[in-house]
Amino acid sequence: MPQRVRSRIREEPAQLSEPDEGKMIKLAMQTLSEHYGMHRGRGKRAARVLGHQLGADLAGRFVSADLTGVVEELSRFWKRNGIGNVVWHDKDNLELAVRYSGETAEDKQMLCPFKEGLIEALLKKRLSEQVSVKETECGGKRDGSNCIFKISIP
Ligand SMILES: [Zn+2]
Repeated sequence: MPQRVRSRIREEPAQLSEPDEGKMIKLAMQTLSEHYGMHRGRGKRAARVLGHQLGADLAGRFVSADLTGVVEELSRFWKRNGIGNVVWHDKDNLELAVRYSGETAEDKQMLCPFKEGLIEALLKKRLSEQVSVKETECGGKRDGSNCIFKISIP
């Protein structure tokens, strides 16, 4: 009996895998893009809530406590995980361009609220609860153009 307990304890570290936010975010985005159009209004709200949750989780992995640093970390994270690109569209106006690899205009319907929620929660946790993020220009209306997300810090 004591031996069994000991061996179970020894096995434990192998079973506890680190949560992989990159895989989770990609999985969420793939699922959302595949289910575009379902329950439109509700689906968009759900996508934003899901983004918010994953953004809050991701914030725990980041170290920066200033906007430039957090955006740099997000940009590296996005690229490293093969999600897409995060770049400043207009840094003076706190506008970010956020892309998901290979997204179509249709994918954006569900992915944009997801991205908005994710970035907002990430910035809330890293900087201040007062931060809000809103998509001000959706590239989904024109092929190949970026979606712009405006960060507001009162
Ligand atoms: Zn968009």
